[in-house]
Amino acid sequence: MAENIKVAVRVRPFNEREKTMKSKLCLQMVGNTTTITDEKGGTKNFTFDYSYWSHEGFKSNADGYLEPTDSKYADQKKVFADLGQGVLDNAWGGYNCSLFAYGQTGSGKSYSMVGYGANKGIVPIVCERLFQDIDKRMKEGNKAEYQVKVSMLEIYNEQCRDLFNSNSFKVKGGLKVRNNPKKGFFVDGLSTLPVSNYADVERKMNEGTRNRTVAATQMNQTSSRAHTVVAINFTQKSPNKEGKSMTKTSIINLVDLAGSERANKTGATGDRLKEGSAINQSLSSLGNVITALAEAAEGNKKVHVPYRDSVLTKLLQNALGGNSKTVMIAALSPANVNYEETLSTLRYANRAKAIKTKAVVNESPTD
Ligand code: ADP
Ligand code: MG
Repeated sequence: MAENIKVAVRVRPFNEREKTMKSKLCLQMVGNTTTITDEKGGTKNFTFDYSYWSHEGFKSNADGYLEPTDSKYADQKKVFADLGQGVLDNAWGGYNCSLFAYGQTGSGKSYSMVGYGANKGIVPIVCERLFQDIDKRMKEGNKAEYQVKVSMLEIYNEQCRDLFNSNSFKVKGGLKVRNNPKKGFFVDGLSTLPVSNYADVERKMNEGTRNRTVAATQMNQTSSRAHTVVAINFTQKSPNKEGKSMTKTSIINLVDLAGSERANKTGATGDRLKEGSAINQSLSSLGNVITALAEAAEGNKKVHVPYRDSVLTKLLQNALGGNSKTVMIAALSPANVNYEETLSTLRYANRAKAIKTKAVVNESPTD
């Protein structure tokens, strides 16, 4: 059955700069409604599946974990319980699932996806829980065989780099994106590494994050200008009632998108401008794909969905309009100075609500 993409928004605390500037709060959340207020006091309302108030109402515990002092505050645990647990359940069910974080640089995308220090985000918690669940089932004497593999890639200036293989940074033009009639678009030569426990995943992700910084520094680039895609391939092999071995697979795509701010606002020139426009190419293609899919969901059967216009949309074709359960989390700055960007993020997220995907269980006899 087709179902809508789930859309969440989350507002972070003021950062030091915003505090120094004595920024005003331009967002309000009541229930699932988010209200943005302009300089003149005019308001616009948006409704989402989830609205997370992480602006205030928290304190740091001894480990540095930010915990609620007010029931309105949404901490990392709350966000995982709503969004991450579903991803995990779907993985067990054999569904593909995808989670995107959208928003301007510094709005809190990485905080929700990956997290910092004690405030682990959705990606590490999903990985940790997946292995806990596997261990539990194995202890219970479950006869299934499980396999987990991860890949981590970066799209920068429409070029793909394997974050688990720094040699791929030297490949001119990046790794090739190819189309396979069965699999759809994929990155040729991307490492997909087997992992056998959470510590393994953590080590690999840290390595990928380090590689990302190395590449950015070598090439004088800002990492906020790249899209990062972590994919977890989960396979379960188990006998069915007739004793025949069946394989269930699920691909979990976790996507930390590049900052959505417009290039001109950051005063970009030369290379930075090129970066800016390439990012806008991928992000605006994503926007066009979202618009087309929303129209299709509203009954326009003739609409062409321009997946092929960017690397990002090619790779996320399934995540967006195909066989996947999908969640988008839009990260918001609370400060009035970011009003325009925040409004544009809210509009982007609002459009995404209409998209429907058709996830099916990926199960077939083991070959
Ligand atoms: P982005 O990935 O969108 O560029 P980050 O996730 O790195 O932004 O967030 C920018 C800063 O704001 C970081 O220092 C981060 O710790 C902080 N931050 C973001 N979201 C939250 C939140 N929900 N609660 C507390 N701090 C946050
Ligand atoms: Mg980030």
